[in-house]
Formats: sequence, structure tokens, C-alpha cells
Amino acid sequence: MMSGHGLMWSNMYDPEKPRVRRRIDWRRIRSLFSPYWKQQSLVFIIIVFSAIVGLVPGYMTARIIDSALPHHSFHELTVDVGFILAAAVISMALGVAQGYFNSMVGEGIMRDLRTSLVSHLHRMPLSFFTATKTGEIMNRVSSDVDNVDGVVTGTLTTIVTNIVMISTTLIAMLIWNWRLALISTIVVPFMVLPLGPVGRKMYDVRKRTREQRDRIESITQETLSISGITLIKSFVREAYERSRFYKVGTELMDLEIRLAMIGRWFIASVTAMVVVGPAIVWLGGGWLALQGALDVGVIVAFIGYIQGRLYGPAAALVGIQVQIVSALAVFERIFDYLDMKTERYDVPGAIHLGEVRGDIAFKNVSFTYEGREQILQGISFSIPAGKVAAFVGPSGAGKTTITQLLPRFYNISEGQICVDGHDIATVGLESLRENIGIVTQETYLFHDSIIANLRYSRPDATLEQIHEASRAANIHDFIETLPQGYDTIVGERGHKLSGGERQRLAIARVLLKNPRILILDEATSALDSENEAAIQSALERLMRGRTSLVIAHRLSTVVNADTIFVVDGGRIVESGSHEELLARNGVYARLYRTQFRERIPT
Ligand code: ADP
Repeated sequence: MMSGHGLMWSNMYDPEKPRVRRRIDWRRIRSLFSPYWKQQSLVFIIIVFSAIVGLVPGYMTARIIDSALPHHSFHELTVDVGFILAAAVISMALGVAQGYFNSMVGEGIMRDLRTSLVSHLHRMPLSFFTATKTGEIMNRVSSDVDNVDGVVTGTLTTIVTNIVMISTTLIAMLIWNWRLALISTIVVPFMVLPLGPVGRKMYDVRKRTREQRDRIESITQETLSISGITLIKSFVREAYERSRFYKVGTELMDLEIRLAMIGRWFIASVTAMVVVGPAIVWLGGGWLALQGALDVGVIVAFIGYIQGRLYGPAAALVGIQVQIVSALAVFERIFDYLDMKTERYDVPGAIHLGEVRGDIAFKNVSFTYEGREQILQGISFSIPAGKVAAFVGPSGAGKTTITQLLPRFYNISEGQICVDGHDIATVGLESLRENIGIVTQETYLFHDSIIANLRYSRPDATLEQIHEASRAANIHDFIETLPQGYDTIVGERGHKLSGGERQRLAIARVLLKNPRILILDEATSALDSENEAAIQSALERLMRGRTSLVIAHRLSTVVNADTIFVVDGGRIVESGSHEELLARNGVYARLYRTQFRERIPT
């Protein structure tokens, strides 16, 4: 429906809904990284470098204890300390550089994904948007893409960093003193393995927390939108909204508390490890030292290594598999969207229309919205170029649907629609739509200046052309009275303007586009007579010389139309001029008496 759809609460996508498990598409994920392979390689090189530089302080500590101090050499001491300080400075610099390149990769991939996602969505058929909750679409574009950054600069980098740190440390320790290395590492599995289930649990809860936050965000967005807040106020549902919000808030609170408690356990076990590990190293290392097989400095250095570079990273890698799989699931969610079928823009051998004359013919057209019973059946009519066709009939008869088929917003299941004798199914979609202008009851304006909204239909329009169009649309004088004139910001969806003003802006916008074919959905709501007259004369100017399909609600439009088509139950039941139809004394005559009579002709 083009007009008047009310706002409905959506419940977001269901996080409990089992997602089909698929194999991770590595090649596709890799292809996202490929434009950034240089930066990504730099990140890996820096990680390796940092890990090696990080070994220096420990080694130097051992030298201080085992050589500089026993030899009473202050010179040696300063050299050793100098190395430690240099290592710190280099580490710092490497950290900054890594952050920089990391951001370049993460942000770059996000930009690419966001752009392709949004542009893919722009090419989705209308039916997708009527069938999908806005909240879900928004979520995909914002949080899912944001999560990609977390995966790229967070999860993946952390995993690589930890693995590299553990391996460099292990190698260094083995080379340095393999016996003490074995003693130091022997406890690691015993301490890390029990953390596995805890890590997974934590991961689960964290995921649910995130989903709960999404839910809260979606409710907030919906209720705080202009339409949402209007709905709340008009139905006096503030108290209900409060309790609904309180409920989801409580669920989030419970999850957060659970998360904090699991986190405590985690910290407690890591703390224990940090105490027990060194004790064991002291025991084993001390025994070796008593045998004279080892210097004390080495024990001190090893303890530094295991505390800073072994246990921590090992604990961080707990449940790594779950982490990787679910981190990459972020990509999968986005790929799912990118794989949805878009509208067919260019059928093979599509004809580029250019500017049409505007002859329109519907030949035996039938149409069904997905998952609904047949809406239109055997619709046939033709409108010669430049003529005005009025569509009348009860609400729900299918008038809007008929007009939406012409720009191929939906594809027909049977029959043929022709423009200048070309079947629209075989022409380039953009060239078709360039020939059609649409003015609906619900005028949509972007939150931008008036002039930007007008230029939307024709980016290269000169100021003169814009003024001319606005004059023809009877809106120029009004715009001039605004303090900022054409630079006035219209407010979200044009809420700062009255309905009549918005409509006249919409008319000016289509006038600028100057299409050969016009689809017009007349407003059902009565405006004050001044506005009504202004719009009426603007519309007359707009229709002049164009083939117009008007969903008519005003008597004057109907009377002046070249042909009137009476639509009822998805069929055209009568057609002809006003007089002809009145004389027939059928559906139209009845409609005329009930629907149009009491409207004041302008
Ligand atoms: P009219 O413009 O004559 O009031 P419409 O063309 O808007 O009628 O609607 C015709 C029928 O199609 C109605 O029954 C309506 O519920 C249905 N309909 C309209 N839009 C959609 C849609 N996007 N999806 C499913 N059904 C729709």
C-alpha cells in the first residue's frame, strides 16, 4: 500500500529462532580483507615483532640478577636497564602502529560492507519492505556491521596476538632452559582446561545480553519516533510502555548480574593460577638452582613470562572455538542479506526507453501479492498519451495496486503492461521509472533543506528551474516567507510543514523531474478551501500534457478526466466519461451519489 499505512509494533527478529547452521564461507570473508591485505599483513608483522620485543625485559632482568649484580658492574646494570626501557618504548610505538592499521582494516571493511548492504537494500523490491520489520533492517545495517569491527580489530586480532605471544614465549623458554620451561608449562593445561565450560557459559550469557540490548534499542527507537510517540499519546499507553520497558530492563539486569558473577569466577581462577603457577616454578626452579643447574635470575624471568605472557593469553584463548565461530557468524548474517534477490533491473536484452510519448496499455493483467489471494483479475485498459484517467471505486478495490504495477514496483503474474507499445517487463527498469512521476497522499521529505528535497528529483536543476517549478506548484510564495527561504530544513519527514505545503512541495518535486507519465493519489482528507484550491490548480498544471493515472477522490478530477475507470473487487467494472457512466446508472452512478456528491466541487 502506498498510502496511509499505520505504525505497528514489531518484535524484532527472534533471537531464539534457530539459525540454519552453514559452513563458514572463508573465501568470501577473505575477499572482504583483500583490499586491505597490506595493512592486515602489517598488523601481523607488528604482532610478531611486539611479541619478540616483549621478551626483552624478562631476559634483561635475568642478566641483572645473574650477571650485573654479582659482578658489581654499574655499567652493565645501566645497559640492561636501558634495554628494558627501550623495549618498553618500542612496544608502545608498535602498539600505536598496530592500532592504526587495525582500525584501517576494520573501519574499511565496515565501510565496504555498510555501503554494499545499503545499496543492496535499495535494490530490493518493495514487497521486501512491506514484509520485513524496519527494526530488523536497521539492526542489520547498524549493529551487525558495527560488530564486524569488533570481530576484525577485536576478536581476530586478540586471538592472533595471544597465539603469537604464547608461542614466542614457549620457544624462548625452551631454548633458554628446557627443563624449567617444562616445569612452568606443565600446570597450564590443568588450570586452563576447567575454564573452558566457564568461558562458553560466559560467552552464551554475553550473547543473550547483547540481544537483550538490541531489543531495548528497538523499543526505544520505535517508541521515540514521531509516529510512535503520537501513537502512545493518542492511546494513552504511557503506563503500558513503562511497564514493558521495565520488564525488558529487568531481563537485561538479570543477565548482566549473571555475567558479572561468571566473570568473578573467571577472575578468581585466573588469580589462583597466577599464585599457584609461580609457586610451582619456585619449587622446581629452586631445586634446580640448588643443584647448581640454573641461576636464580632465570627463575625470576620465567615467572615474569608465565604471569604476563603465558597464563593470561592461555586463559583468554579459552573457548576460542566458540568465539571464532560466532564472531564469523556476524559475517554470515550480513552475507544472508547480501544474497537476497534484488529487483531485476536489467533483463537480458532490455530496451532503454528514453523519453516516452506516454501511451499506456494494460492487457489482461492479473496480480497477486505474495501469500495473498488474487488481488487484480483480467485488468485491461488503455490510456492514450497525454490523457487523464481517473480510477474510482471503494477502498481496497485495487486502485493503488494498479498504479504500482506501472513503475514495476511489483511484477505481474499474468498479462502485459505496455508503455508506448513496449512490454514493461522487457525494458530497463531505471529507464521506465525515469518516465514516471508519483505524487502520493503521504508525502515523504528527507530531513534536509527545501531546496535539497526539490533537487532530489533532478540534481542538476538550476535555481531558476526550481523557482519556476515551485511557482507552478503554488509553493514559491510560501517558501519565500520562511526566514531561511529555500534553505529551511523541513524537519523529519517534513513534520515542520503542513500537509498541504508538503503536498505542494511534492508536486514541485515531480514538476522538476518532468516525467511523461504521472501517477497521482489524491488526498482523501479534506484540506481548508484555500489549500485545496492551491493544490488543485498546482495539480492541473502538473497533469497538463502528461499521461495521468489519478486515484481520484475529488469530484472535479473525476468530471474532468478523459476516462473514468471504476474498480471494484480487483476488476474494472465500468469505464467511460462522467456523463456516460451516469447515464448507465450502475456502480459509478451509485458511487457518485454516495461518495462524491457531498464534496464541494472546486
Ligand atoms: P485501493 O487503492 O483501491 O484502496 P489497494 O490497491 O491499496 O486498494 O489494495 C487492494 C488490496 O490489496 C487490498 O485488499 C489490500 O489489503 C491489498 N494490499 C495492498 N497492498 C498490499 C501489500 N503490500 N501486500 C499485500 N496485500 C496488499
